[in-house]
Amino acid sequence: MIKVSKFGGSSVANSEQFKKVKKIIESDINRKFIVTSALGKGFKDDNKITDLLYLCYAHVKYNVSYDNIFNIIKEKFITIKNELSLDINLEKEFEDIKKIIEEKDEEYLVSRGEYLTAKMLSEYLGATFIDAKDVIIFNYDLSLNMEEIKKRLDLYLKEKQKIVLPGFYGSLPNGIIKVMSRGGSDITGAILANVVNADVYENWTDVSGFLIADPRIVDNPKRIKMINYNELREMSYMGANVLHDEAIFPIKEKNIPINVKNTNDPNNDGTMIINDCTEYDKKNKVYAITGITGKKDFSVISLVKANMSSEVGFLRKVLSIFEKYNISIEAVPVGVDSLGIVVQTKSVEEYLYGIIGELKNGLQCDEVNVINKISLIAVVGRGMKEKVGISGKIFAEFGNNKINIKVINQSSDEICIIVGVENKDFERAINCIYDKFILEK
Ligand code: ASP
Repeated sequence: MIKVSKFGGSSVANSEQFKKVKKIIESDINRKFIVTSALGKGFKDDNKITDLLYLCYAHVKYNVSYDNIFNIIKEKFITIKNELSLDINLEKEFEDIKKIIEEKDEEYLVSRGEYLTAKMLSEYLGATFIDAKDVIIFNYDLSLNMEEIKKRLDLYLKEKQKIVLPGFYGSLPNGIIKVMSRGGSDITGAILANVVNADVYENWTDVSGFLIADPRIVDNPKRIKMINYNELREMSYMGANVLHDEAIFPIKEKNIPINVKNTNDPNNDGTMIINDCTEYDKKNKVYAITGITGKKDFSVISLVKANMSSEVGFLRKVLSIFEKYNISIEAVPVGVDSLGIVVQTKSVEEYLYGIIGELKNGLQCDEVNVINKISLIAVVGRGMKEKVGISGKIFAEFGNNKINIKVINQSSDEICIIVGVENKDFERAINCIYDKFILEK
């Protein structure tokens, strides 16, 4: 059994958390491949090391003295080193970092959070440290060079008993360090799981997996025990953030289950994410709905044009205007002579006049209206597929609660129904779906 265990920032925020990680690793001999984020938040108003490093870089960039912030960062590492009696020579490490700071290399600097955390964790666990710059290789277009990554990792992994790999960064073929997008350690974990053909990719965080709905909106929501990759994609794209979106691809390719677990409650099973839940669903009672999520602040740009439906290519022309402004479109509800383009408000705000002008003058639309303050709610569930009446129940529930529906959209694989409501109804809408489909069961 091969397990890849990735620990998020909160799992390594201080020496107490390091101790929990050690216990987790030592409780299972299959946990040999470890990936770590940088020291994260240990308490509510604490700061993530990565944020402090970005801040440090901002000081350097604008020629403001960075000594204070640099010392805060250094102190965080030194405290853990002392509390765990580690040998790592942090004075030397920080001297090296200082030298490079003067060269104003932002990505190098922010990658040091993961680098140092992994160095300390490897010493603490008695494991081998592998520098991500030597094994996680990007092409010059910043895509992952999986072939090269595999080749390099294989060299390292042959005889090693236990390894710790820092997440979040890698390097270009010329050795220059590049970081991934924020939260990227999940991707590093997924790459490692892919390369070692893991039986499971454990993603350790500070929550026990995914909840059916956001606990800030729904009181004490139930946990999702089993979810498939596609449902998860829908959930995380629409705002449920436990795992980095892009972490799913290397894992899905090899059909590796992901287990999201809680470092502070390791006996909780967490959430299991797999490719195909059919077997599980046969043996267990599952809800028609796996999760409810959503985001606020979308705009609907609605167009009316007489005989639009018979004008071949009209939709393409509309979409290409948005493409020109590099605006990503969330949904396109279509009527006979009208259509709506749903986009994030912040992505369109700046260009709105230009776009409206092109729609009216260029495409001769009779009417162009913009509706702001729209929330999109995604009701996600493999159990909805080919089941009659689910959408009816959702809409009826909104009707019963006097929530006006502005947009309706269903994904063609039938696992996600997206409903647009006014921002003011967002929380209420999520609660009424939760009550109907989960609590009433
Ligand atoms: N430390 C990085 C961040 O804060 C990457 C990660 O935690 O996965 O975004």
